Amino acid sequence: MDPQQALIIIKPDAVQRGLMGKILKRFEDVGLKIVAFKFEWADREKIIAHYPETDEWFGKVGQRTLKNYGAKGLEAKEMLGTDDPVAIGKMVKSWLIDYMSESPLLFAVVEGYETIHIVRKLCGDTNPMNALPGTIRGDFSHDNIDLANGRRRPLRNIIHGTDAVEEASKEINLWFRPEELHTYARADEEIMF
Ligand code: GDP
Repeated sequence: MDPQQALIIIKPDAVQRGLMGKILKRFEDVGLKIVAFKFEWADREKIIAHYPETDEWFGKVGQRTLKNYGAKGLEAKEMLGTDDPVAIGKMVKSWLIDYMSESPLLFAVVEGYETIHIVRKLCGDTNPMNALPGTIRGDFSHDNIDLANGRRRPLRNIIHGTDAVEEASKEINLWFRPEELHTYARADEEIMF
């Protein structure tokens, strides 16, 4: 089995709250190796490129809202002016551009085995209300879709982590140049593997 890499981005709510060290520690503690690291303001165009511009992605995000509204007996048309999942997804993406521009972001690439699965597990559910205690989102955030949509902003959920193998290289190449990724051995690698 070959190692895998994943991108993580510590989002503005976590940067503003001084949580960067605690969050990075979770990845280091589990044994993932940090192979790239930077702290900078994101380019607007790069934020747009980071979140897919496809109906599949818009639809997935919109469905999350519709499912949540359905469970609460809320009408999407009344709340957002539309019940089309793609249109809702596009709305969320426009809010993401402002959110991701609120502060510098911490970008890191982590490496290990089944890294993408481990990263998703550590981050927890996208919706902080459903993120389990022990996960980064479950421990450090407190937000929900109804509230976020009502305020016309994205869920403030602390972190982005690559969630699919096929997205990893696209995301890493968007934010890092090849020479910014480093190869070295962690001292515990031999003991662990
Ligand atoms: P992720 O991979 O877990 O970050 O989730 P997605 O790629 O599906 O969504 C990207 C980001 O959009 C999330 O991390 C949230 O900040 C935001 N978001 C997703 N779904 C919703 C939603 O239904 N409403 C709002 N307000 N924000 C959302």
